[in-house]
Amino acid sequence: MNKVYNTEIICVGTELLLGHVTNTNSRDISEMLSKIGINVKYHTVVGDNPEKLKDCVEIAKKRADIIITTGGLGPTCDDLTKQVLTSAFGLKLVENKAEMETIYEYIKGGKKVTPNNYIQAMLPEGCTVFHNEWGTAPGCAFEAEGKIVLMFPGPPKECVPMFKKLGLPYLKKLSEEQIVSHSLRLFGIGESAVDYMFRDEMNKMVNPTMAPYAKECDCLLQITAKAKSEEEAEKMIAPVMEEAKARLGDWVYGVDIECIEERVIELLKEKNLSFAAAESCTGGDVAGRFTDIPGASAVFKGGVVSYTNEVKAGVLGIDPTLIEEKGAVSYEVAKEMAERVRVLCGADIGVSVTGLAGPDGDGVHEVGTVFVGMAADKTYVKELHLGTYRTRSFIRRMAGNHVFDMMRRYLTGLNVI
Ligand code: ATP
Ligand code: MG
Repeated sequence: MNKVYNTEIICVGTELLLGHVTNTNSRDISEMLSKIGINVKYHTVVGDNPEKLKDCVEIAKKRADIIITTGGLGPTCDDLTKQVLTSAFGLKLVENKAEMETIYEYIKGGKKVTPNNYIQAMLPEGCTVFHNEWGTAPGCAFEAEGKIVLMFPGPPKECVPMFKKLGLPYLKKLSEEQIVSHSLRLFGIGESAVDYMFRDEMNKMVNPTMAPYAKECDCLLQITAKAKSEEEAEKMIAPVMEEAKARLGDWVYGVDIECIEERVIELLKEKNLSFAAAESCTGGDVAGRFTDIPGASAVFKGGVVSYTNEVKAGVLGIDPTLIEEKGAVSYEVAKEMAERVRVLCGADIGVSVTGLAGPDGDGVHEVGTVFVGMAADKTYVKELHLGTYRTRSFIRRMAGNHVFDMMRRYLTGLNVI
């Protein structure tokens, strides 16, 4: 990109200021923009107040080239973003025929439409309309006074896909260069170790560039290239990616995916295998995370949240004496849990988690001690010490990641532990 376009995102909504709703739109839009090389310089949040929004727009005009707003495009009386932005640039709102038709279609469809719904079809003169396939309020973009303004509705399920499908291509046109980036997702190695491993190369690299990032319980290595075309950028990335993959080996669990469970589901489908989970300290997280992914039903049989010893014995059928002798947090119980849930649910693979997520200990183990098991043709159990200072949610998530990683290793023919 020749010109640097500084960007400000203004999210409108009193609920954001009150802390009732987390501002995920800024995060998601920023993440998408960073991938196409547009610099987001400011995030602003303002209530549903036209005067204050106007002040924010005046400030944004001074410090940004691109102004992106979210929220306040709907039909209610506090939805005033379009009106404020349009008048701040000396433009008028005019009726948009196509959007008006969409509203008529709604009436024909028997939906309740009140006169204020028509306000949604009033858009800045000469703007590019972003039709809203995910809701009713359209978004739009216009250029005025040397600035580029884009507006999107507030609900993330409308704003995010709309920005991706319509906002990004609109902004990509500004650039003479294409930016492509790919991420290697890694488990079992930390961000600082990756940084150390590639530091010399990273210091020398100009285009493509490479950078590690920490995620919640794993990390990624992002490789980014700029070129005249996407194809050219892809070609520049390919050898760097191959070399990084080779050096990182077993730690790489996927490319351009969101989480390790996504990879596991793909592998189970490929191999036509199913799994079941017996969970103690994760309380159903493993099953929950897995079933969050579309298509899980093809490979996930079910699970047992065996939080107490009664359920470990009564439902899974583990010998109570064994539990008593070895303790619920033990190698033996993790092994039994994985083997028994596999049989109980009729799955090809059974996994288990039993441990201490804290903050209270059991007098025997330190907080963060977790046993994860996996039963298939044979049974594997891994003892983890995830850290006494960690939060409950970290320990639960990390334990789940280890379970998924064992499955990933098993399914790709690597050493499971
Ligand atoms: P609608 O037609 O739904 O009224 P709108 O563009 O007017 O769309 P708002 O009324 O501002 O949107 O927001 C609707 C809801 O969307 C809010 O109550 C909030 O739950 C959610 N929302 C708004 N802005 C954000 C944001 N920045 N991040 C996450 N959620 C948001
Ligand atoms: Mg609204």
